[in-house]
Amino acid sequence: MQPDSIIAISPIGDLDIEHIRPVRDEIKRLFGYPVEIMPLMDDVEFAYHQDRGQYQSTLILEKLAALSPPRVIKVLGIVHVDLFIPILTHVFGEAQLGGKSCIISTYRLRQGLSISSSEFSLASRVVKEAIHEVGHTFKLRHCKEKTCIMHYCRSIKDVDNKSRHFCRYCDVLLEDEKKRLTEK
Ligand SMILES: [Zn+2]
Ligand SMILES: [Zn+2]
Repeated sequence: MQPDSIIAISPIGDLDIEHIRPVRDEIKRLFGYPVEIMPLMDDVEFAYHQDRGQYQSTLILEKLAALSPPRVIKVLGIVHVDLFIPILTHVFGEAQLGGKSCIISTYRLRQGLSISSSEFSLASRVVKEAIHEVGHTFKLRHCKEKTCIMHYCRSIKDVDNKSRHFCRYCDVLLEDEKKRLTEK
């Protein structure tokens, strides 16, 4: 690992910086790397699927990894468009398990929010999904513990119900992986 390794956050398209800052702070706190906001691409039109009217997240992951400078150990893309993978109707995000890149979308996270609660709740959901996907890049898999941040969320309600934290089990696995990366 390079001594100046960082985790990069790449906002893509029209995004509110108020949603990015808490993500940056939480990632830094939980994963222990410096975090930089680093826009790596202007749009994701290359991943647009005409028939579905959505964007294929796997293609964006590959491009994010390819565009990241070497000192970027992990990269998180944040988009506002609707993402999918072929076997699912939509995804909140996707990650390369144990790989370099992950992505989240704010599109479906806006579901069911009233005007008054919207900004606070949206920011909280964005943070949770971001930690979850970055967790996958550190080799964490889905966790059975319902309150664990690595619990798989099928619906937006599941997202709201889980905490912002790793359970003790996932925390141990994360520390092991961080140690392994440092020694590399
Ligand atoms: Zn997941
Ligand atoms: Zn867990």
